[in-house]
Amino acid sequence: MMLGTKIPGMKKLTNTKKIGIYNKPKYVYIPLISQNDTNITVIAKKGDYVYKGSVIGKRKGNLRIPIHSSVSGTVVGFEERPYLNGSVVKCAKIENDFKEKEEVKKEPHKTLNHYTKKQFINLIKECGIVGLGGAGFPTYVKYDTDKPIKTLLINAVECEPYITADYALMMEKCEEILETIDAILEICHIEEGIIAVKKNNTSLIKLINSFIGTYLKIKLVEVPNQYPMGWERNLIKQVKHVTYQSLPIEKGIVVNNVSTIYAIYEALKYERPLTERVVTFTGEMLKEPKNVLVKLGTPAHEVIESLGGYKRNKNIRFVAGGPMMGVAEPNDDLIVTSNLNCVLVLKEGKESLPSECLRCGKCVSVCPAKLSPVLIKDYLKKPERLKELEPNRCIECGLCTYICPSKILVREFVKEAKKKSREG
Ligand code: SF4
Ligand code: SF4
Repeated sequence: MMLGTKIPGMKKLTNTKKIGIYNKPKYVYIPLISQNDTNITVIAKKGDYVYKGSVIGKRKGNLRIPIHSSVSGTVVGFEERPYLNGSVVKCAKIENDFKEKEEVKKEPHKTLNHYTKKQFINLIKECGIVGLGGAGFPTYVKYDTDKPIKTLLINAVECEPYITADYALMMEKCEEILETIDAILEICHIEEGIIAVKKNNTSLIKLINSFIGTYLKIKLVEVPNQYPMGWERNLIKQVKHVTYQSLPIEKGIVVNNVSTIYAIYEALKYERPLTERVVTFTGEMLKEPKNVLVKLGTPAHEVIESLGGYKRNKNIRFVAGGPMMGVAEPNDDLIVTSNLNCVLVLKEGKESLPSECLRCGKCVSVCPAKLSPVLIKDYLKKPERLKELEPNRCIECGLCTYICPSKILVREFVKEAKKKSREG
């Protein structure tokens, strides 16, 4: 059974280049938000000196995780900045002293597997590790379960066009990532680790195979080059041939992506909190598209300038994320956050205006969540009927918009319906 659609990858702009580093922001803007929750206890005050890794805020409620400073320096104030979900969010503005001072300098641990499961969960919680694939869900919650975990599935699929952050990280840090998977298997008593890679990523497959031999509980599984193969439900169906109701743990499965595993490596090895990530800066309007390791809170335009800027300054458009699931941005004011995997800079197209719906049903047949996007669009103004169509199950993959011959932005209608159904 097909679990997706083949779409152009557009990965060549960045997938053969080494990861760059941008670590010179004069100011970082640390958003006081966790997932979409702004219910944060702010610890740092204006004028405070903070270290790299100091806790400046803590999420309240059940999913309580800290938010850290990504630089050492002085908190100079609090400012609202544009955020990935289209809103503005209050940020702690920290002036970088470029000293990279840490409160306690820790020696790297020789091994990664010397933690108990309880210590491991506490460590990744206190290090503020969240899913770096886009959802930003606190990672410790997946492991903090009484249910036995049988499989740790590493999502190295990265199926969205243009994005190569995970690919580049896996290419450069393959040994560290394998070591981390092996340690998690041991610490959490997990039977097997599976790394899922798209079968067309032949260089990556070759590299993983050259290191995997000594790790008897880890195997590599090649998956079809389709979109959205990296969607958790699809991937689990493809790799383990099972389905689940609401969470993979029902079938004893935990899924992490490559960047998240690397963040866990940094926590296990150095007890280092999440303060930076690899972001794909790409698109035909950038002079030098590249994956870059960036401190969280860095303004995206600074990284773009460090890459030589734009090919031209007019008629360009920005997307936070990839072209299918990303969010259009009015400009490059965006800051780098843990849930930002890509900044895409494209030519403003002469896009044709949407025309009348042809009732062709293509959006229905392509939808991986088995929804009827066209009906959801039609019933947007009839909330009583809308609920039955379950727009809340939309994963915002964008395939309905991609496939629509009438150029209707179908996904945007479904997103609106999803929002409406959430608001009740
Ligand atoms: S309705 Fe949602 S899940 Fe279905 S194709 Fe459109 S964006 Fe994807
Ligand atoms: S793909 Fe476009 S034209 Fe076809 S039914 Fe869906 S919304 Fe209408």
